[in-house]
Amino acid sequence: MTILLAWLLADLISGLVHWYEDRAMTGQSRFAFLNSVRADNERHHKMPGFMLKFSWWGNINTTAPFAWLLAAVLFYWGVPLIVWLTPAFLSFGNLVHRWAHESPARLYWPIKLMQWTGLFITFNHHAGHHYVAGKPVSREDSRIRFCVMSNWLNPILDYVGLFRWLDKFVGPRK
Ligand SMILES: [Zn+2]
Ligand SMILES: [Zn+2]
Repeated sequence: MTILLAWLLADLISGLVHWYEDRAMTGQSRFAFLNSVRADNERHHKMPGFMLKFSWWGNINTTAPFAWLLAAVLFYWGVPLIVWLTPAFLSFGNLVHRWAHESPARLYWPIKLMQWTGLFITFNHHAGHHYVAGKPVSREDSRIRFCVMSNWLNPILDYVGLFRWLDKFVGPRK
């Protein structure tokens, strides 16, 4: 149960970070790291399939080492399971997202099984973030399904309107 909760908590954080990237990351930052995250996000929204050109490691290498270090330190401190497992799971968030852009024929069966449960986000579900009525939407105009790890949270968050609320009261700044 805790493992499931940690997965969904990581999914929630992935959604909040993704919303922040789509809305607030505009223009140059003085931090090279943030500029590369923004460039990745912009490119992903223009060319979703581009991330498949990278290796699995290439999809997570900018953030995974930090998340693993954080998880290891938290584990060493003896914090509850969910506290260190969440960043550990989150480190794989973009990889799970990548598999939602991959053709199912190219996926290994354990990944397909996890997609079947909805615990790994699926192509059709994630497409709701990138397309409306079959047409690509820009990152500024994308309104739903910001969580990139599972099919479970987005329907709830979109139903209660979390991201609409953030759009209204936090951003985008126009
Ligand atoms: Zn995507
Ligand atoms: Zn987006």
